[in-house]
Amino acid sequence: MRCHPLLPSLTLLLFPVVSCQDSGTDSNPVALVRYAQSREVMGTFAEVMAFAADPDTAKKAVEAAYDRLADVNRRMSDYSDDSEIGRLNRQPAGEETVVSPETFFVLQKAMEVAKASGGAFDPTCRPLVQRWKHAGKENRLPEPHAIAATMQHVGWQKVTLDSHDRSVAVSVEGVQVDLGGIAKGYALDLAAAALKEAGAQSGLVNVGGDVIALGSQSGGRPWRIGMKHPFQPGLFRTLAVCDRAVATSGVQQRFQVIDGKRYSHIVDPRTGQPAEQAPAVTVIAPDGLTADAWATVFSVLTVEEGRAMIESLPEIEAMWIWGSADAVQTAESSGFAPYVAAD
Ligand code: AMP
Ligand code: MG
Repeated sequence: MRCHPLLPSLTLLLFPVVSCQDSGTDSNPVALVRYAQSREVMGTFAEVMAFAADPDTAKKAVEAAYDRLADVNRRMSDYSDDSEIGRLNRQPAGEETVVSPETFFVLQKAMEVAKASGGAFDPTCRPLVQRWKHAGKENRLPEPHAIAATMQHVGWQKVTLDSHDRSVAVSVEGVQVDLGGIAKGYALDLAAAALKEAGAQSGLVNVGGDVIALGSQSGGRPWRIGMKHPFQPGLFRTLAVCDRAVATSGVQQRFQVIDGKRYSHIVDPRTGQPAEQAPAVTVIAPDGLTADAWATVFSVLTVEEGRAMIESLPEIEAMWIWGSADAVQTAESSGFAPYVAAD
């Protein structure tokens, strides 16, 4: 999975507190203990925070969450030859690779988003991503014929998933999977579930700026998550969420420069070019996988295309930011505004 240690796009607006009040009854408050830790995982910076009845539980919950993050990375990173995806990417066409339930689930979801987005999202984008990465290193745009050749190896329909034995096969030699646009969000979901299973009452997980908020703060108050301004230091908006994931994609997040021009790390699998529009898009969804995948989709589609699509997607909201520091332009889905904190 592709994760560079860049500045996270979202920030947790939480300041050290030793304890807070449980969301139970005001007349009978229960003190909760907060435990938080930052680490480098998935090639980026992560923060995990848990509120629990005692310090031991809070600490164990944070450890459990980190275990899940590492687990997803170990299985799904396309950087490592030893991961399940690394193995899949070396498999000859027509041969089946059996993967874990976790990897199979993410592949299935990736295919669903690929179909629903008309191919704007495509888990087989790896050859294209690599082609453009190479172009960045050489500081030279790829020849059109090289792009055309690479496109022969791209297309989510070239992957077959068999849920009976969780096997995966590609129909064309050279097709390779990259779950960098979705696996981080899935890792957030597993980490949040781990926090809960380990006894945390609530908590937050932030991996490279994509965040999942488990439950709410004391007294049922929403968690506050800062959206960084894409063009200048400071925050653009503050979001107030409970039990939601928030993910951001776009050219401001990660890009490379070829011949003095910025190119997004997100490719448009329909054209073979880096996503041209690539506004900064922040997506709010009930789970991390959904937020992550659709934030990538909306960085490929134009703002108009994305806005037309999002209204048919239940419980997914987005804000698009583009333009420049002097002329910031924004658009948002119809249900985004209630998540924006008043102050
Ligand atoms: P994100 O930061 O979540 O938008 O994910 C970006 C990463 O997803 C890239 O670094 C690639 O690994 C991968 N990716 C790039 N373009 C696409 C695409 N069109 N569909 C799916 N994944 C993509
Ligand atoms: Mg994504």
